[in-house]
This record gives sequence, C-alpha cells and structure tokens, in this order.
Amino acid sequence: MRIDVLGVGFDNVTMEEAVARGLDLIHSGGTHYVVTPNPEIVEVCRESQEAMSAVNGADLVIADGIGVVKGAAMLGTPLKQKVPGIEFAANLMEKMASEGLSLFLLGAKPGVAQTAAVRLQEEHPGLRVVGFHDGYFQYDGPIVEEIRASGADVVFVCLGAPKQELWMAKNGEGTGAKLLCGLGGSLDVFAGVAERAPKFWSDHGLEWFYRLCKEPKRIGRMMKLPLFLVHVKQEMRRR
Ligand code: UDP
Repeated sequence: MRIDVLGVGFDNVTMEEAVARGLDLIHSGGTHYVVTPNPEIVEVCRESQEAMSAVNGADLVIADGIGVVKGAAMLGTPLKQKVPGIEFAANLMEKMASEGLSLFLLGAKPGVAQTAAVRLQEEHPGLRVVGFHDGYFQYDGPIVEEIRASGADVVFVCLGAPKQELWMAKNGEGTGAKLLCGLGGSLDVFAGVAERAPKFWSDHGLEWFYRLCKEPKRIGRMMKLPLFLVHVKQEMRRR
C-alpha cells in the first residue's frame, strides 16, 4: 500500500529497502521505472493529469526530500525516511558494479553525461557504462534505439520533471532496459558541474535553501514549496 501525499502514492521504504526493491525489479523480468518526486513534482502532478499518471504508474516511488516526508507526517501517514534520488542511484550503482550490470546515462547538457560516465566508472569499479546521450534531442526514436542497441540493464533518465517521468512511461519498454530511474539534475552532480548541499544543510532540511542561494533563478520553481505546504494543510483539514 502506498502512502498518498496530495494524490501521489509513495512507497514507504528506507534507503536500504528502496535499493533492494530496485535490484528486485532489475531481476524480475520486463521493464520497470522508478520516480523520485519532491514537493515541486507533487505540485506539477496536481496541475497535470498526464504527469500524475506517469508518476503513479512507476514501479517504485521514493520520497526525494524532507518536504514530502514532512507532508506525509502532517497528514498522519508518516513515511520511514527521505530517500534522495541521487543517493539511491549511488547505492544502486554499488550493487550494479558488484553484479557487472550495465548503465546508460541520458540527460543534461552536451558533454555532461560523458564526463559523468568516466567519473562513475572510476568510482564504481565493475560498473559498465555502455552509453550516454545529452538531454536536448528532438525525437525519441533514435535515442530509444541507441539505448536498445547498447543492451543497457539500467538507464538513468535525467531530463528534469515531468519530462523524464513522461519519457520513461512512454519509452521505457522500447529501450529494452530492465530499470529506468528518473533522477533530475543528478548527472550534473555526478559530472562535477553542480554540487549538492553540504551535509549540514540537508541534515537540517535546508537543501532547497542552499540550492536557491546557488541558483537564484530557481525562485519561480521554488514558489511551489509554500504552495505544497498550503495544499497539505488544506488536505489535513479535509481529512
Ligand atoms: N534537462 C535535459 N533536457 C531538457 C531539460 C532539462 O536534459 O530538455 C536536464 C538539465 O540539463 C538538468 C536536468 O535535466 O541536468 C534537470 O535538472 P533540475 O535541476 O531541474 O532537476 P532537479 O534535480 O531539480 O529535479
């Protein structure tokens, strides 16, 4: 049973459980996908039925931040913990490396996925990065074919939300991959062109504020955070 936060159903899992579920999905046959919504994505889903269906249609939905965890607690249905998508990805790569599984990196500006590929292979000996492509392409078909031809087991789809969720719902099966993971700006961090907030900030639930200071142009998007809280409060009263 998923935990409903404003229409998005979250799997109530710890990081360890999430990674184990990811591996199970890889080994269970067929194609599956994972999404990592934060409050901003929940708000996007409330505005778009298509995005909502793509997110709720995922095989694993993890809470990518303290906002969702706080929202779930306020609604009286607490989640075990936050499971940041980028940490989920790092832990999954550790397991993939030990099993010799292969990875395709899709997304970010030209050059970024390639740099990430080199760094990730260094950081996770045994991991096979079998392909990469930037996230600024016009047609899906050639990309889907490229992934299929690479034989990748797993694809990190980093196109921003809700583009990546819609892309995985539409094209996942065509890629022939076993698992696709929607991971926002993670390739920028893996490549070293963006940095995550230091631990102090994320430990205090302030990762969003750190990002805002680093990238003030995010202010428009971040206005969705207070909106999320307003909607959670409305939902509390309704329940
Ligand atoms: N992006 C992309 N194609 C697009 C739009 C965005 O590849 O058409 C990339 C962008 O370069 C960035 C990532 O998607 O690497 C989105 O990053 P953002 O910071 O928005 O994601 P978040 O981590 O906040 O979800």
